[in-house]
Amino acid sequence: MDTIIFDLDDTLADTYRATKKANRALFFHLLRTGRLRLVKALLLREHTDFLMSREDILLYDSHDFIAHFIRDADPGMPQERIDAACTLYDRAFFSAFGLVEGAWDLLAFLNPRYRLALVTDGAKRWQEEKLRRLGIAPFFDRIIISGEVGSSKLNDENFRMALEGGEDRVFVVGDRLETDIRGGNAIGATTILVRRGTFAYDRETDIVPDVTVTSLAELYRVFPAE
Ligand SMILES: [Mg+2]
Repeated sequence: MDTIIFDLDDTLADTYRATKKANRALFFHLLRTGRLRLVKALLLREHTDFLMSREDILLYDSHDFIAHFIRDADPGMPQERIDAACTLYDRAFFSAFGLVEGAWDLLAFLNPRYRLALVTDGAKRWQEEKLRRLGIAPFFDRIIISGEVGSSKLNDENFRMALEGGEDRVFVVGDRLETDIRGGNAIGATTILVRRGTFAYDRETDIVPDVTVTSLAELYRVFPAE
């Protein structure tokens, strides 16, 4: 049976929207509680370099991000205030978190026809909580979480771990060129870029997907019912 490897965040789940809501909630919380140094840092995007540059970040959860940012930008903030900010962030995130439109129907359609796997970056606790809330884990034969296996999707091995071996064809569907498409190309899969969310902007890169779509609905053309 052919295998389709899916990415989770901003491919099947609307993480971009939930992150924006959580960032906004954190901003107003810090403003209300007078952490003006952090408000300024958020506005000016100071102390956020670590978000884009380090592989570790792909293994982190939201508490790690927020705590890292706060300790960097406002070293005097007491631990219980940091914890409160992290809890508020999580709550705002999950209140807005859900599947991308059509994701459930697509997985239900593909599930009998293909072996499905999920390869996702993030901390084990955080990604498992997302899956629990979305209820989509039963669609997948295998789920590889970076924080659990100890390496991110910058490593080809994360994609190989999702295979059962002996597949005729493998497909990788994801929104991010540097992880999903690069990794998919590296293992010889047919790669499908879903251009949406955080990484939808044009970038200079030599990583090229086999197919580009802008919505999950277009995947019915890529994986027809025969
Ligand atoms: Mg993604």
